[in-house]
Amino acid sequence: MKKDSALFAQDITKFCDDYLSAASFQDYCPNGLQVDGGAAINHIVTGVTASEALIDAAIKIDADAILVHHGYFWKGEPAPITGMKGKRIRKLMQHGISLIAYHLPLDAHPEIGNNAILARNLGLTITGALYPTEARPVGNIATCPPQDSDELCQTIEKVLGRKPLFISGNRDAQISSIGICSGGAQDMIDQAAMMGCEAYISGEISERTTHSARELGIDYFACGHHATELGGIEALGKVVSEQFNIPVTFIGIDNPA
Ligand SMILES: [Zn+2]
Repeated sequence: MKKDSALFAQDITKFCDDYLSAASFQDYCPNGLQVDGGAAINHIVTGVTASEALIDAAIKIDADAILVHHGYFWKGEPAPITGMKGKRIRKLMQHGISLIAYHLPLDAHPEIGNNAILARNLGLTITGALYPTEARPVGNIATCPPQDSDELCQTIEKVLGRKPLFISGNRDAQISSIGICSGGAQDMIDQAAMMGCEAYISGEISERTTHSARELGIDYFACGHHATELGGIEALGKVVSEQFNIPVTFIGIDNPA
């Protein structure tokens, strides 16, 4: 689409809502336009999390909108716009920058979702959903050529640029069936084991995940919340850039978690 009139955050949100089928997800945060900066959009910044560092980087390059995977207003958090949250939103408003966020819809998208991209990059073939009975399942089951856990560790390290934290499920056979879900999805290890997966790949790990892996007999690879969720938002940025013919700049804010 050619840009022939001013573009606003609402236009971008409407397109992304449709593209990601955002309304059909039950999520822990509002998806779409979270902060309306009011200004016409000429340059968008993408990033994993709408941290103050990302906002500062967007201000520096004069962007009018920030498109992220982790926005604000999470279920259960205090409502007042004070403290750290207040400072972030004040900066956005003062600089007329809109904040647009997509959480689960961006994890689950079959082409540009975090899980689809992660699986593709790791050479895995997605065969189904981890929760096949859910209307909008997040998390997948995938297959790979039979390999041992060392091989998979090396592939993950090569693809993500960081060593995964590996917890052995004390299995003998090679891995060919893998559950996969990016981010803070460590507790879905139970479901992966129940679905017959030999390994489970996710972002974060909790203390309890170690025991789950050992007792369920499933190999677990904690690959980093941030590292497993870089792909989706960068890909969405490219789609938006092409759709509206405007510059979109991905900004990586390093995060070891
Ligand atoms: Zn996440």
